[in-house]
Amino acid sequence: MIYYNFDIKNLNSFNLPCKAKTFIEIDNEYDIQLLENIDFTKRTIILAGGSNSVFTNSIFDGNIIHIKNKGIKIIDQTEDDIIIEASSGEDWGEFVRYCVKQNYSGIENLAAIPGSVGASPVQNIGAYGMEVKDVFYNCLCFNPIKKEWKTYSREECNFDYRYSIFKYQETPEIIWKVRYKLSKHFKPNLSYSALASEIQRLNLEVNSPLQVCDLVTDIRNSKLPNPKELGNAGSFFKNPVISPEHFQKLKEAYPNIPNYPSDKGIKIAAGWLIEQTGYKGKQIGNVGMHSKQALVMVNYGNAQGSEIITLANKVIESIREKFQIELEIEAHLIY
Ligand SMILES: Cc1cc2nc3c(=O)[nH]c(=O)nc-3n(C[C@H](O)[C@H](O)[C@H](O)COP(=O)(O)OP(=O)(O)OC[C@H]3O[C@@H](n4cnc5c(N)ncnc54)[C@H](O)[C@@H]3O)c2cc1C
Repeated sequence: MIYYNFDIKNLNSFNLPCKAKTFIEIDNEYDIQLLENIDFTKRTIILAGGSNSVFTNSIFDGNIIHIKNKGIKIIDQTEDDIIIEASSGEDWGEFVRYCVKQNYSGIENLAAIPGSVGASPVQNIGAYGMEVKDVFYNCLCFNPIKKEWKTYSREECNFDYRYSIFKYQETPEIIWKVRYKLSKHFKPNLSYSALASEIQRLNLEVNSPLQVCDLVTDIRNSKLPNPKELGNAGSFFKNPVISPEHFQKLKEAYPNIPNYPSDKGIKIAAGWLIEQTGYKGKQIGNVGMHSKQALVMVNYGNAQGSEIITLANKVIESIREKFQIELEIEAHLIY
């Protein structure tokens, strides 16, 4: 179906008011024909669950392609592994639960991340010591301008921390189906300290992916604001990576600065930086950085996209001044 001046307030987890000039809903392969009638000289974006999309204007003067295709199927398997394919419109959290219930492992730490299967490679979703690139096999994409299908391998996606080639595409390709390689042998990944300490606290013996999935879900629910109650897009900023020299200087001034090793330097917890500048729990107009999770910007009610940008700039500026660190926005800002 194609809709005009379509209200997408309920289709973005920040709950921002916005109307799309042209909104194309794609449920199945036949619907792809609808794209024949679309004016691609206009700006075009793809929207699925809307949990990482921040609409900064009340009108999007272009095309929004909304992906809703469904289906899960097994492609191949051995005694050890399974390749499982999910259509992009599947709910990510439900897909994870479906896999772990069959004892397919490798995906359980990514439980309860809001959004769709199709968006999972876009920013290489990650949580609790795992990233989707660890299990990604390939994905089938449709280029709406060239009208071509192409399969991208893991290498071609160029995955990095909250990044893949799909993240900033000028003309977005539609990720139609994603294949994941999961293991039939459960090897828990408890490298993330919050997960390991929760297991210790509960005195649990972890012996199934479903158990990890349930634990991660409980921890997430206790820590993160529910977008149905308080609009948000999860972590608003990326954790910055700084040079070892820069880190040493900061460590002298702030001995407790939370840090983690990274391939490219030292990763600093952005939430901690935000807390140090006094923005944690501070409300400015209709928006603020959450009182429990400083990294999550929230909409207290009737926020406009412009308020989000103003607060983001204030936070970035204050961290630049205090720590000489440049924060990068993780969420997809749509102008
Ligand atoms: C409470 C909360 C917690 C979160 N926690 C995490 C977390 O722990 N880790 C993490 O990584 N993220 C997290 N996020 C962010 C978000 O859940 C993920 O980025 C998720 O993958 C977004 O899925 P979506 O379908 O809602 O994407 P959307 O917001 O609809 O789209 C996100 C981006 O992907 C593109 N896209 C979506 N579908 C397709 C497709 N089929 N083809 C091509 N491009 C597509 C869009 O154009 C856009 O650029 C969180 C968000 C919230 C609200």
